Amino acid sequence: MKAAVLRSIPGRLAVEDVAVDTPAPDEVLVRTVAAGVCRSDHHYLVGHHTTRLPTVMGHEASGIVEAVGEQVSYVGPGDHVVACLMVFCGRCEWCLAGRMALCPQEGTTRDGGRPRLSRSGEEIHPYWGVGAFAEMMLVHEHAVTRIDRDIPLLSASTVGCAVITGLGSVFNTAGVRPGAAVAVIGAGGVGLNVIQGSAVAGAGRIVAIDVFPDKAESARQFGATDVIISRDPVDELMEITHGGVDYAFDAIGQKTTAEHAFASLRPGGTAVLIGMIPEGVDISLPGVDFLYEKTVKGSNMGSTRTRTDIPRYLELYRQGMIKLDELVGRTRPIEEIGIAMDDLERGTVARSVITFDGEA
Ligand SMILES: [Zn+2]
Ligand SMILES: [Zn+2]
Repeated sequence: MKAAVLRSIPGRLAVEDVAVDTPAPDEVLVRTVAAGVCRSDHHYLVGHHTTRLPTVMGHEASGIVEAVGEQVSYVGPGDHVVACLMVFCGRCEWCLAGRMALCPQEGTTRDGGRPRLSRSGEEIHPYWGVGAFAEMMLVHEHAVTRIDRDIPLLSASTVGCAVITGLGSVFNTAGVRPGAAVAVIGAGGVGLNVIQGSAVAGAGRIVAIDVFPDKAESARQFGATDVIISRDPVDELMEITHGGVDYAFDAIGQKTTAEHAFASLRPGGTAVLIGMIPEGVDISLPGVDFLYEKTVKGSNMGSTRTRTDIPRYLELYRQGMIKLDELVGRTRPIEEIGIAMDDLERGTVARSVITFDGEA
């Protein structure tokens, strides 16, 4: 099968012919229909984070189940699914407390024995247990969530990361209250979902911040009440919100954007750091601000419980309360994965989605 493989960090993705194994008893083989291109993928290409190599990148996808292992009863061939890197074990203390985002995922990978993916005998790792930039995904059964067939698979692909991360950071991590003032730094795939999640939660002012004018304008369609185009937005934000916001979300994940999020808070406010801050980067906060009972919270994938939250979000979509179709900026075949990655840097597309065989 065709798959986009990363062989060095930093490096570029190249489409290779990769062999996929048959499902182990607790695994599911999924024919990929659509796979979103996320900023987190890009972090590895530029060397901000490391992972086992070679790896098939991609972690946000939709598809149709092709085959299942003998112990799998949750899905069967023909079922439509969303794949997500939050592969919960279902047994650890975090899973049992409903905090799957903190699960160490023990027992959900193949360590030793036959690899899931390979090329001429060389093991190739599926990125975070998913490996979505490939015609097939062989994953642990807890990597998939079954979805209803009336949901378009192209739009559903964005649910696996951008949607759950953005909405979850609002509903699960922050617990945004009606009437609250919100700032969102970064109006890409995740940021737009923070914006529309805040609107669903009943936030009052929702200020979108980005450096690209096109993106910030599209934020208005998702519920932003105000837009700031700036690399240094804090003064303007303080002015238009009369002293700061109750919740500030950093959907970018840089030292400066994380610090801007904290600096945007009014007394008692909460900064939620969603973006992947590069390994080795520290952030610096003024200590005296903690006298004003300000809070900093990390959010991993929106603190999501996939099989609880994803069906709820799809119901919000069905009821017209959130947008999914509009998240897909453009589609590309797997051969154009490199261009899609470059588009992330250019900031020209909300979400590029790789599609396979015109199925979506
Ligand atoms: Zn992602
Ligand atoms: Zn667990």
